[in-house]
Amino acid sequence: MSAALFGVIFPFTQREKGTRMKGHCICGAVEITVPDIQEAAVCHCGTCQRWGGGPLFTLDHDGQLEIRGQDHIVAYASSDWAERAFCKTCGSHLYYHLKGHDHYALSAGLFQQSPEVSLSQQIFIDEKPDYYDLSNDTPKLTGAEAFAAFQAANGESD
Ligand SMILES: [Zn+2]
Ligand SMILES: [Zn+2]
Repeated sequence: MSAALFGVIFPFTQREKGTRMKGHCICGAVEITVPDIQEAAVCHCGTCQRWGGGPLFTLDHDGQLEIRGQDHIVAYASSDWAERAFCKTCGSHLYYHLKGHDHYALSAGLFQQSPEVSLSQQIFIDEKPDYYDLSNDTPKLTGAEAFAAFQAANGESD
């Protein structure tokens, strides 16, 4: 099985504080509200590259999302364990949803009023194209390392 099939997998729990952040798609039909998230991550995997034309910057959230405009959302099952959601009107990518853990990697670009966000890690660095390199000083995990870390954090044995 190709590492790319695992898609976006983030092993670390995000630090959240009491406030909430709100994001929306280009056309505004979909609005998503989550507890404030200060750590962003980026996935360089081949599936994200194909999905969005480049690396996918995300804000992680575990648990349900508060969504307005649910009927505008289309979710594509990109694997047996995950789906990728987008707005059916404007095409904005909304989130990667790891179904078994109710884990959401939200498209960071939906939330543009978050000056405190910093990049915490890069995953699937082994699938990153050669034509760019991010200068951010972050941990860089291969797809295998990211998947192993996620399994360890979630107490799974396989
Ligand atoms: Zn990815
Ligand atoms: Zn939209």
